[in-house]
Amino acid sequence: MNKLNIYLKNLDYNLKVIRNQLRSNTLIFAVVKAWAYGSDMIRIAKHLEKLDVDYLAVAYAEEGRILRQEGINLPILVFYPQLDGLETIIDSNLEPSLYSASLLKKFHQLLKQKNKKSYPVHIKYNTGLNRVGFNPNEVSWILEQFKNKQFELKSVYSHLANSESIVKDVNNKKQIESFLKLKKKHEDNPHSNPKFHVLNSSGIFKNNEYQFDAVRCGIALHGFTNHPDLDQKLKPLVSLNSSISQIHKVKKGEYVGYDLGWKAPKDSIIATLPIGHADGIGRHFGNGIAKVLVNGIKAFIVGNVCMDMIMIDVTDIPCKEEDTVIIFGPRHSASEFAESGGTISYEILSGLGPRVKRVFHS
Ligand SMILES: *Cc1c(COP(=O)(O)O)cnc(C)c1O
Repeated sequence: MNKLNIYLKNLDYNLKVIRNQLRSNTLIFAVVKAWAYGSDMIRIAKHLEKLDVDYLAVAYAEEGRILRQEGINLPILVFYPQLDGLETIIDSNLEPSLYSASLLKKFHQLLKQKNKKSYPVHIKYNTGLNRVGFNPNEVSWILEQFKNKQFELKSVYSHLANSESIVKDVNNKKQIESFLKLKKKHEDNPHSNPKFHVLNSSGIFKNNEYQFDAVRCGIALHGFTNHPDLDQKLKPLVSLNSSISQIHKVKKGEYVGYDLGWKAPKDSIIATLPIGHADGIGRHFGNGIAKVLVNGIKAFIVGNVCMDMIMIDVTDIPCKEEDTVIIFGPRHSASEFAESGGTISYEILSGLGPRVKRVFHS
């Protein structure tokens, strides 16, 4: 059956490599959103708590609430709070990113109601990604807000649109210039003394001169930098195995799968695996697009991906029922597998379904 093997020692290893890219006093926000990129948010967070990280970060309040319920004590930054999640943030002692005036005002009002003072918050600026964040021209209004005793401004941050670019990209430069102006204005303001950060995993490996006071790393903990050469420095945290349910012979001209997705060009041998789109293998991986490893040899997925199963062409591969098949792993990386289906490691990892058994190795 399907197993997502999770190698905790590779988490220790990747974190050390990340550390080595940074100054010794740079803070690390370990990003465990989206169920720790599809692995197991609780186990990963508990392990990270024993390691050298300063913060955890999640996307939404509910993820942080679950971590608190599981007894995690590290400070937790919530990247994308929604108005209806602000109460959870306070009740679970989470730290919100405030990225709009409406969010900031509502949060302030709630803190007053609950009689909270010096509550830790973070400010997110939009310097060019155009996803969430205050417009840089709102900085004076924001600085005014920190006269307010309800807030303690922990950090000010932004996110690069092109941190994956290995060359010194002009867009990054523009965003950094804008961020530096904001940084100066915040530093000149006597009401707060925040940390500053812009880098995610790619940035740590490609633009570490912009590390400022902190970095936010997610995918690098899982072994990826968004660059195949730099990935060699890291070790994959997880590997996904399946196994052969059945093998059958099809004659030249016969079809495989729904909608007659694949027509055998010659007499062929087909193996069926118990993994499908409900487990995170999207439809776009089917029809001869993506490959998996059977006994060390690459096999194409043929026919349309079904909800519970996929079929692979093993005509020239010695194999038998119950043999293990590597969907992705050390010799066939998640990023390579993802790319063959026209997507990226983030999507394939975070999209793994709940039926895939998570198996931990220390
Ligand atoms: C998800 C996220 C990160 C982590 O990005 P990686 O590329 O996985 O390191 C950092 N910052 C923000 C705001 C995010 O949403």
